[in-house]
Amino acid sequence: MKKISQVYQLSWSDHQKRPRKLFNILEKAKINLIEPIAVKTHFGEPGNNNALRGEIIKPAIDWLVNQKRKSFLTDTNTLYTGQRSGTKNHLETAHNHGFADLGLPVIIAEEDDFEFRLSELDNQYQSLPIHLGKELREAGSIFCLSHVKGHPMFGFGGALKNLGMGAATPGGKKILHASTIGKIDHNRCLVCGLCTENCPTEAIKKEGDKIIIDYEKCIGCGECVAVCPQKVIEVNKEDLVTCQEKTAIYAYALVKNKPSLYLNYLININAVCDCFSSTSPKLMDDLGVLISDDPVAIDQASLDWINQKAGKNLFLKINEVDYQPILDMGEKIGLGSKKYQIIKT
Ligand code: SF4
Ligand code: SF4
Repeated sequence: MKKISQVYQLSWSDHQKRPRKLFNILEKAKINLIEPIAVKTHFGEPGNNNALRGEIIKPAIDWLVNQKRKSFLTDTNTLYTGQRSGTKNHLETAHNHGFADLGLPVIIAEEDDFEFRLSELDNQYQSLPIHLGKELREAGSIFCLSHVKGHPMFGFGGALKNLGMGAATPGGKKILHASTIGKIDHNRCLVCGLCTENCPTEAIKKEGDKIIIDYEKCIGCGECVAVCPQKVIEVNKEDLVTCQEKTAIYAYALVKNKPSLYLNYLININAVCDCFSSTSPKLMDDLGVLISDDPVAIDQASLDWINQKAGKNLFLKINEVDYQPILDMGEKIGLGSKKYQIIKT
């Protein structure tokens, strides 16, 4: 029988009025986080006001700071040229977004040449090369704070994506994204240029009267797919499944020998990834925070909460990408369970 995981639910209004409630839940979760504790989060791309900010995660960090445990806030550098692509600009971004004021050091997990494989897996991913940020890889435990929103390639992003894609070094991200390269249907393309304006690597360009993708430069981030008004840039659905499954493997590789605790923030819920440098409209009121020791259960519970409020399968409808493969693979390899019990507080 599959495990039924516990997921604590806190409404956003309650969390704002009574931050102590979160302390009580974190105490109840009874996870013995081992030092050094890596607080894995996302410092937010400038221009995207939906992403987390230092003040939003402050109550969770206060809980950690009060325990006087050796901890640090962290993320890896991005693959694309934004304001989190190198350690210097990434630290500046973290500082500008209030993460340096929380009483913990901010450390960008660095890329080194350490590569490993999960030979214990009994699937096609046992030879997948794994590249995780050094400080994350070497941490004693993971305290994972994630913003829940939609995503053009994953359907949605929550704890599993924050862990798997988020802990990968730029080289690791390249491996994960390798299968998500799009193709343009030129017959339907308006040559409007929106994709070229939004591409973070200048991989998509106008050449003559055509839009062309330079596959040497493309990192498979999906921004062009998301902004195209004609929906003429298509990624093979099977390739999206592969990317999601590989991301679940990376998440497992990070936490398989570490105690881990997860907070999902269901606020500023919008259709796209926090890596976009613009602010997409909110799709609903802020819901709240979920807390669990299971990254699969917390993502499933986040989706169920959103879908229940929306009265439909919201992100599937908007992004037209099934998000089940990442959850299914997470469950299959023992990262967690899609079955959960909500504990309202
Ligand atoms: S955004 Fe879409 S329609 Fe516009 S140029 Fe790019 S591919 Fe063509
Ligand atoms: S997926 Fe699109 S936006 Fe992203 S790097 Fe490739 S061409 Fe550029």
